[in-house]
Amino acid sequence: MKVLVISSNKIKALAAPIPAFPSGPAYIAGGALEAGHEVEVFDACLADDVTSELTEHVERFDPDAIGISVRNVRARRWSDHQDLRPGVKEITDSVTRISTAPIVLGGPAINNFGREWLEYLDLDFALRGESELTFTRYLDMLDEGGDIHTIQGCVYREDGQLFELPIEPIEDLDATPYPAFELFDLDGYRTLGGSPALFTKRGCSFHCTHCPQNILEGSRYRLKSPKRVINEIDRARSAGNADMFYFSDNLFNFPKYHAEAICHELIEQELGIRWTADGLTPLGMTRDFCRLLKESGCAAASLSVESGSEWMLKRMRRGYSTEHIREAITSLSKAELPFMVSLLLGGPGESPETIAESIDLLGSLPQAQIVNVNIGLSLEHHQSVLADARKDGQLQDESDLFDGSYYLSPELSEDYLRDLVESLRDKANWFVV
Ligand code: SF4
Repeated sequence: MKVLVISSNKIKALAAPIPAFPSGPAYIAGGALEAGHEVEVFDACLADDVTSELTEHVERFDPDAIGISVRNVRARRWSDHQDLRPGVKEITDSVTRISTAPIVLGGPAINNFGREWLEYLDLDFALRGESELTFTRYLDMLDEGGDIHTIQGCVYREDGQLFELPIEPIEDLDATPYPAFELFDLDGYRTLGGSPALFTKRGCSFHCTHCPQNILEGSRYRLKSPKRVINEIDRARSAGNADMFYFSDNLFNFPKYHAEAICHELIEQELGIRWTADGLTPLGMTRDFCRLLKESGCAAASLSVESGSEWMLKRMRRGYSTEHIREAITSLSKAELPFMVSLLLGGPGESPETIAESIDLLGSLPQAQIVNVNIGLSLEHHQSVLADARKDGQLQDESDLFDGSYYLSPELSEDYLRDLVESLRDKANWFVV
């Protein structure tokens, strides 16, 4: 079959002017290739004129099946947000105008809002969860016959009603197809500062109140072997000029023994690559560990601090204390590893006093190259913070979530927040995003 994989993300990145590499589309395209299909990719992020280039691509390739990946519902900025849904609709409308090929939606934004996206885009089928295997199963069923409505994680419309099947986690990640980096413009991303992205595990054992990840992926870790990770890096290097990589795990450094094993393998194989990873937990960031990160090629570490208030860390169920933050930042600095930190302010229980504690803590430690501050929580299904949002009158109905709902602690007045943002922006290297 001729299969077109469309990465619909058009924005370069949510928090920085660096494009996010479409790793999900690369993995599912790899699965389709391995299954013997003829696969092409359309990457909206690198297109100059998405509609006309996509139309030309679909007309020329005339695919038998189309997978469309959707990354985000909205891009959040302090005090406003950008609704990304119309851009995705423009893409799906362009496709359905000229092609009758079946369309399947997938990607991070579908995981939590599968039904809503089908309604919004007026489409009939989506795959939630880990699609490396289910996308290929879907293609096989289209090709050889079979009921696509039996595929785990699918959301579908039948007789005007929407149904969904539970997500099936992939147990053996080493046995999944390799990402088809060769179908993507690695040089285009490199020119814009982006890097090929790959993940080393699935699952998250933490229960942060603002995050749905441990419900969606499960709290049990499923790990790729270090050898498999190295093989993925090798494939990307054969596909293009890639010497910088991004590990897109929820938390690259947890479980710590797994991160250590990957770092040791990178050192042993002498690949000479550099890498980054977002959202490192302060847990276990000892001096030895930070030196290991650096020796293995880590170019910069992005540490999730989120709060410097003991009370808020407990309320957010972050699983670490201010002592861990102190150790992590001191260790990163001693290892001479460039690092950035993030703060997530405004959740339930946040007050001017707890925010002052966060600012004071960072002020008392070695300075990060960048401090990214998020204010307010973007609400989605499966977050435990939804209970607080309802209690505090900030969420009436879960059906409002898809249109954009936010939580902001009622203890923070508008005047206070305006002054806070102004004062944070006055600090060197601090960004309110
Ligand atoms: S925020 Fe990170 S550590 Fe917390 S539950 Fe989500 S993925 Fe896990």
